[in-house]
Amino acid sequence: MTAFLIDARILYRELLAAYGPQDWWPAETPLEVIVGAVLTQNTAWHNVAIAIANLKEQGLLGLETLLEAPADIVKAAIRPSGFYNIKYERLRNVLAFLAERGGLETVAAKPERKLRADLLQVRGVGEETADSILLYALEEPCFVVDSYTRRLLSRLGHAWAERAPYADVQTWFAREIPCEIECYKQYHALIVQHGKAHCRKRPACAGCALAPSCPANGHGTA
Ligand code: SF4
Repeated sequence: MTAFLIDARILYRELLAAYGPQDWWPAETPLEVIVGAVLTQNTAWHNVAIAIANLKEQGLLGLETLLEAPADIVKAAIRPSGFYNIKYERLRNVLAFLAERGGLETVAAKPERKLRADLLQVRGVGEETADSILLYALEEPCFVVDSYTRRLLSRLGHAWAERAPYADVQTWFAREIPCEIECYKQYHALIVQHGKAHCRKRPACAGCALAPSCPANGHGTA
């Protein structure tokens, strides 16, 4: 029997019905989104939130302020996010990229394709980080693909998504939902929420809203 494979629009509708609209990205300003997008690499958001709170508390959360602040002060503030030496360098690279181009507003005025290509040239910025910055800080229609996204698609019968190039997974979503910024924001947030609530490394399938259309339902796949 050929299994029915869920498509991107139905998946979105089911996740939205299950979890409701998500308040994500959790940030007060575009710059805060950018700082968070760098600090969240390889760590849980809880740790990033502590680091950002430290930066705010010390009045460091500004483009020029962060670039000019002593390294040891910034590193101490972001230490809770882990790998703080590497993340400090990456943060500086991204902030310098923005400053060299006249600041956030000027960068936001560039066409998306060129901006994405430029961002990917910044040392320490991969596709997920670039798209998080583009979508949530700069309002560009770039679907964010992360490990939750790949795992969910794979379990829903799209096994190719586990190891496919980033662009292929992104295209799977974008083909059916082209250039809808607000939808992309919600969609990524919903996938993250679902990945935490049910579709974890060891899935908690009981009570999962996607269980009726999920081939991996109850199989305990990793
Ligand atoms: S049924 Fe299980 S494997 Fe399938 S999406 Fe839900 S939690 Fe993930």
